[in-house]
Amino acid sequence: MPDYSIIDAHVHTYRSSDIGRQAMMGSDRTDYGGTPDELLALMDRGGIQKAVMVNMTPVVDMFDAAVAKLPANLSPSQRSQDEERIRRQMIGRLQRRNQWSCEIAREHPQLIPFIGLDPSMSAEDLVAEIDRRCDEGARGIKLHPPNQRFFPNDRRLWPAYERAQELGLPIIFHSGTLDYAPDTGKYGHPNGYADLLTQFPRLTVVMAHLALGEFAACADLARAHANVNFDCCFIINGTDKPPAVSDADAVAAFRQIGCDRIMFGSDYPWHDPLLDSARIQRLPLTDAEKRAVLYDNAIRILAL
Ligand SMILES: [Zn+2]
Repeated sequence: MPDYSIIDAHVHTYRSSDIGRQAMMGSDRTDYGGTPDELLALMDRGGIQKAVMVNMTPVVDMFDAAVAKLPANLSPSQRSQDEERIRRQMIGRLQRRNQWSCEIAREHPQLIPFIGLDPSMSAEDLVAEIDRRCDEGARGIKLHPPNQRFFPNDRRLWPAYERAQELGLPIIFHSGTLDYAPDTGKYGHPNGYADLLTQFPRLTVVMAHLALGEFAACADLARAHANVNFDCCFIINGTDKPPAVSDADAVAAFRQIGCDRIMFGSDYPWHDPLLDSARIQRLPLTDAEKRAVLYDNAIRILAL
């Protein structure tokens, strides 16, 4: 273990391990269930001082599942009324999940709450949700373009980006195309970020997963935009045998993008924070570079 603490800049937590395992949909990379207590015990063992909870709610998947159960013979106006009722219900779930993340963080200050938003929310609702959760302790926003079916520069989210920029709230985006989601992967492509980064030059943007390995595109964005940063969870991990990215390729990518722009994250409970942070420590980086990735960058970029 290094002589400094570690920050895990990307974890997910759930009310119960049943819910966590259901969210992981049979992923068998770890045996974890994703509860705050389980995570806190791991953090203790691994010298992890803080973990950023980027909890999200799969609003579109839940909406689609509920709409599929509506009777087939509804009139168009009844159908659109029902769809609006279901949409509101799913946004209610997102809001309760945000509230829960903030509550957990108040009980355990080493857990940092980020909140979810959805592009189907009105401008007023987006800003109101940000303001309400900031009063409850939220420290940033998490968005998932492929899961939520939007491009990062979607104008519907402009009011949220403006408010986040004003308040100095960082936004972590899932980035990278998902090979298991051929229809929606395009929403995570790194090409979707330049417009957003230009329009909101003071907004702190984090592209999670280093765009799932599109390192050259990440490096281009990093050179062009001072406000873009990255986390390396999922793509650089200590779980996959053999690793998807070799040590040499990981180090080359870190240096090409900038070791001051990349934060360690584990994507717990999908991956193991202890194995993943150990992988970073094993990489042939300098001690200063490792410390930047494991600790300093998160403190600075996420204003922890
Ligand atoms: Zn994640």
